[in-house]
Amino acid sequence: MPIKSIYARNIFDSRGNPTVEVDLITDLGLFRAAVPSGASTGVHEALELRDEDKSQYHGKSVFKAIDNINKIIAPELLKSGLEVTQQTEIDCFMNKLDGTENKSKLGANAILGVSLAVCKAGAAKRGIPLYKHIADLAGNKEIVLPVPAFNVINGGSHAGNKLAMQEFMILPTGATSFTEAMRMGSETYHHLKKVIKDKFGLDATAVGDEGGFAPNILENKEGLNLITEAIEKAGYTGKIEIGMDIAASEFYKDGKYDLDFKNPKSDPKTYLDSGKLGEMYQDFIQSFPVVTIEDPFDQDDWEAWSTLTGNTQIQIVGDDLTVTNPKRIQTAIEKKACNCLLLKVNQIGSVTESINAHNLAKANGWGTMVSHRSGETEDTFIADLVVGLSTGQIKTGAPCRSERLAKYNQILRIEEELGANAKFAGKSFRKPL
Ligand SMILES: [Mg+2]
Repeated sequence: MPIKSIYARNIFDSRGNPTVEVDLITDLGLFRAAVPSGASTGVHEALELRDEDKSQYHGKSVFKAIDNINKIIAPELLKSGLEVTQQTEIDCFMNKLDGTENKSKLGANAILGVSLAVCKAGAAKRGIPLYKHIADLAGNKEIVLPVPAFNVINGGSHAGNKLAMQEFMILPTGATSFTEAMRMGSETYHHLKKVIKDKFGLDATAVGDEGGFAPNILENKEGLNLITEAIEKAGYTGKIEIGMDIAASEFYKDGKYDLDFKNPKSDPKTYLDSGKLGEMYQDFIQSFPVVTIEDPFDQDDWEAWSTLTGNTQIQIVGDDLTVTNPKRIQTAIEKKACNCLLLKVNQIGSVTESINAHNLAKANGWGTMVSHRSGETEDTFIADLVVGLSTGQIKTGAPCRSERLAKYNQILRIEEELGANAKFAGKSFRKPL
């Protein structure tokens, strides 16, 4: 018996915005999936279909996408007789039904919701855990648990402070298990809260969209200092390394970078060119244990990307640059612009294409960091995805706010289930296999 029914409804994400939830029923029961949403979406991403009806939800309602599932995808998929274990065929079927390159007819949020639910139902049908099912779909033979990259200081478009750079992350690469990495992350996070409170007062400890603190500092280096102090206080110096997501496209203005971009009266004389910004990164790398930097330059400033990647040993991650899109990834490979893919399921819009994007990156010697979005739900699919693909690294926010912890908690359960067979990526998070 293939799929019995598919039904989509409107729910709300962690920012209180509408998003799509899908219920898929087979003879084995109900399988549910919810679709995440980013704050800033690149022009090269698959299209998230919003109604743009200003009379409700500030134009953000998703009733068209929901209708497209209930009235088009559901009846057609049921008619097709495809089994939930046929992930590739089903994703391909939906893409054909859509017929556009960026899923703009049915909506990437419609297609992804169904794709995720199908994957969960497929695992149940095969009687195996979801991560194992994903591993099989990807042709991955060995299971490795990821290093969590906790976003503990929020700036950029995710926070109402002056800080330009978007994320300051801690990676417990010196842990021996995922469970220990969680302990190190949680303890350091709470030390950081105290460090920030002592320096800037209690009102500076309010958190941003991803659960990290958002103190009102302007100097990006100050963020690194605060984190270093917290790591020291927690006793994890040398065991916790640092990561950053600059999200530089957000403050790129006419060929230069404005590190005071949230100030409408910022002084153009202070804007930095790519060379000066690159020097700032080299200084960060030398002065702090920074091991990964995401989106250091604008998504079309290719030369600056290639220069930095060619002049450092650390991980340079493409997110806005590559948007989980095989064509953009291919260009970045050719230009040697970065050496790691940020994998976001809703940027590409289906399970199969997410797996393919990772395999393309891996085949070219890149790492892959699986990522949440700033607008999240209680769905934990990406936890099973990162384990199934065994990419070695995941970022899904601070160890704070349940839509972030839901993913980390699921990986804890998987580690427990694997028992003695559990392997933690640790220092080899860039190439765990
Ligand atoms: Mg990013």
